Amino acid sequence: MRSLITRPRLLAVLLTGTALAFSPLGGTATAKLPLDQLDSLNCITPAGASAKGGRGPDTREMSPAEQRAVEAQTAQILRDKAARGVGVPKGALATATVPVYFHVMRAAAGNGDVTDSQISQQMAVLNKTFAGGESPAAANTGFTFTLADTFRYNNNQWHQDKQSSTYRKQTRKGGANALNIWLVDFSYLGIATFPWDYSRSKGVDGIRVHFDSLPGGSIANYNLGETATHEVGHWLGLYHTFQGGCTATNDEVADTAAQSSPTNGCPDGRDSCTLPGLDPINNYMDYSYDSCYNQFSPGQSTRISDMWTAYRA
Ligand SMILES: [Zn+2]
Repeated sequence: MRSLITRPRLLAVLLTGTALAFSPLGGTATAKLPLDQLDSLNCITPAGASAKGGRGPDTREMSPAEQRAVEAQTAQILRDKAARGVGVPKGALATATVPVYFHVMRAAAGNGDVTDSQISQQMAVLNKTFAGGESPAAANTGFTFTLADTFRYNNNQWHQDKQSSTYRKQTRKGGANALNIWLVDFSYLGIATFPWDYSRSKGVDGIRVHFDSLPGGSIANYNLGETATHEVGHWLGLYHTFQGGCTATNDEVADTAAQSSPTNGCPDGRDSCTLPGLDPINNYMDYSYDSCYNQFSPGQSTRISDMWTAYRA
């Protein structure tokens, strides 16, 4: 997830199990907008974030053991599918055109609406970022996105992301391969579900994104549409680049250097761990400003392929 904060975003860490947790990290006592969080069965936990509070009532941190369990389960599924000849040949990467359903959750009076042009621009951002179009160093993931439909609702509760399990179950479209994006007004930039939770939480699968984070939105530094890119990264199985902090395991991706905590802004040269490599501040799975983001790494592209094959293909 990505939280909306005036400065730092939050961190999320994952886990499985049930619920999501998040906490805003850093920032001042007045920071309010968390950037993002992971949804059900996942959770987020920034190192040291507990001191900041902000965790949900039914959330818990994902333990290292739970993270290992997810990795082991995924590896087993991939081995089983490979043995059956399902999926892409060894060494090849899965690609897909993902149908996208937008759900504009407006208030009764209409607040929270976005234009068709903004949705079109958001789609263009997804396609550009997942194609590696923002930097020569960026991976082309091979994933493209096509607008399947747009729905608009007027409901004060839904607009504020209240009764989210209910409204998602009532409005979600498509199967495991369909991306549902609910645009709401809440204190986060975005919240996502992980692919390994799809089988037991089909009805709520997708991402919730602050409507003002779309291109042309009003959230300063976070209104170029890249919150959706970050959340889709989670939806495709990526962890934050600061997942696990300064550990070798970190985010389970070898070519994203470990970092101790989320990045705020765009601090060139940041190096928060003694492990090799500068912090990947330009990576979509950090919490940097939208203008700072420009890439997924090749390792993340491979992880997306594996997760797609295991859970969404
Ligand atoms: Zn996130």
